[in-house]
Amino acid sequence: MMPTNPESIKIDDKPAVKKVVIVGGGTAGWMSAAGLCSVLAPLGLEIILVESEAIGTVGVGEATLPHIRFFNQKLGIDENELMKATKATYKLGIEFKNWGKIGDSYIHPFGDFGFPINRTGFHHYISRAHKMGLPSHLDQYSVPVMAARKAKFQTPHPDSENVLSTFGYAYQFDAGLYAAYLREFCEKRGVTRVEGRINKVTQNNENGEIEAVTLESGETLSGDFFIDCSGFRGLLISQTLDIPYRDWTNHLPCDRAVTAACEAVGPELPYTKATAKSSGWQWRIPLQHRIGNGYVYCSEFINDDEAESSMLSDLEGSQLSAPKRLRFTTGQRQKSWVKNCVAIGLSGGFLEPLESTGIYLIQEAITNLIEMFPTQTSYEVDREEYNRLMDIEFERVRDFLLLHYVATTRNDSPFWRYLTSMKLPESLKHKMDLFKSTGRVVSYETGAFKDPSWLAVYYGQNIVPAHVDPLSLHMPDSVLSGQLDSVSQTISQAVQSMLSHKDYIDAHCRAL
Ligand SMILES: Cc1cc2nc3c(=O)[nH]c(=O)nc-3n(C[C@H](O)[C@H](O)[C@H](O)COP(=O)(O)OP(=O)(O)OC[C@H]3O[C@@H](n4cnc5c(N)ncnc54)[C@H](O)[C@@H]3O)c2cc1C
Repeated sequence: MMPTNPESIKIDDKPAVKKVVIVGGGTAGWMSAAGLCSVLAPLGLEIILVESEAIGTVGVGEATLPHIRFFNQKLGIDENELMKATKATYKLGIEFKNWGKIGDSYIHPFGDFGFPINRTGFHHYISRAHKMGLPSHLDQYSVPVMAARKAKFQTPHPDSENVLSTFGYAYQFDAGLYAAYLREFCEKRGVTRVEGRINKVTQNNENGEIEAVTLESGETLSGDFFIDCSGFRGLLISQTLDIPYRDWTNHLPCDRAVTAACEAVGPELPYTKATAKSSGWQWRIPLQHRIGNGYVYCSEFINDDEAESSMLSDLEGSQLSAPKRLRFTTGQRQKSWVKNCVAIGLSGGFLEPLESTGIYLIQEAITNLIEMFPTQTSYEVDREEYNRLMDIEFERVRDFLLLHYVATTRNDSPFWRYLTSMKLPESLKHKMDLFKSTGRVVSYETGAFKDPSWLAVYYGQNIVPAHVDPLSLHMPDSVLSGQLDSVSQTISQAVQSMLSHKDYIDAHCRAL
């Protein structure tokens, strides 16, 4: 995590790098500037951010993961103020429709399912209940799923004994407004913003390190360290340092998206929807003032015009913006920190937006960079460690995304037939084999998707363990059945007491 305050960094460890130039002012650029200026600027670090209004930003990225709250908290940002400024709604998870098979629907929530019984995971008892023929569904045991289904919301209860403390939440916001908010935050804290298009990058003749960037105006900005937040073009990491891209299209084949906003209709939902379609999937992200929509598709199986008309035909409200087409390649930069340059955001990699991981990966990159920030002039070891940590994170997210595509019996289009015949990465195959055997989940301490996330997708997409975990067998059938009923009732009653999502926003953070 980011150090809470600059005092936690010892004076001897003051950064060796004195001046950082951030190239790009999208979400990645301004988040990087905000993270660095709140922790390192008080130690004398000078931060310059250069962006080009003429080039603009990618203009998508509305759904987030709960981790963003901790990032904002570390910056000291008031949540209600931010919600208003970014016209945000709360997000309790993502509803996946038509993934395991057409007609299916489940929610991947930000929270636990039930409570461990005798230190054995709750889902093992659900699995046992299934084998006993009891009609129990994982949803009944999750506060965020039940609340989402009823369009209810309140922030988690501070008492960890209270059932309403068993979940997290994120935001659905206007990412452009978030970047604008962070820009103001940074400029107040001394970050210098320079407007203009960079057309030249100067490297040191001997070691190849970046020394300066020059704008079309002729202005030159020199620095000790550069952060490439220039988006897909990778102005420094790719065009200058020539670092290749690990292309994961063979596993995550979607490579395009077409997006449009529409008017908000129906109840204000505290969750994102991801509906699987013939050649990809469509998102629906409800904000306070509009709904963001986008069809993410694979260009090998559908052309751009067909994808656009399919996306538009699924809009729920009147269309508010012209369709926008985007192209991308899923994958990761082979090394995201090279010499004195680190690529953060789309320049460092992109894993498609199915689980809203773009901004999360930016946050991870910033946190790792701050922890490894050069305190000496030679920092190869820190660089290696940073790259190792980012590789782990990208690979885990890739496996989790891929699970959604392969845990399916869909074979109704060439896209789905391609996915179901695909050879899985060994890392994912191992995870799935373990779960299919006795319902055990490969766990890790850090990272985005913990056990409940994997369980939501496994069960939601009809992967069930072949055997019951022996540790769940200690309880007689009738006692188990009573326990499950009691948990479900407790959750149902607690959710009943929550405010509607709309009323909660009205009371705390409605944008004017
Ligand atoms: C279809 C799609 C949907 C997505 N949905 C989500 C989502 O729901 N949730 C999520 O977390 N993430 C999502 N993402 C990812 C998210 O959009 C990005 O991670 C995020 O916006 C960061 O982008 P960026 O700042 O790296 O790049 P950009 O927004 O492209 O910013 C690049 C910046 O670099 C500047 N620049 C470039 N070249 C130059 C130059 N020569 N001179 C000066 N300045 C330059 C530009 O002006 C701009 O300021 C999505 C991405 C896509 C493609």
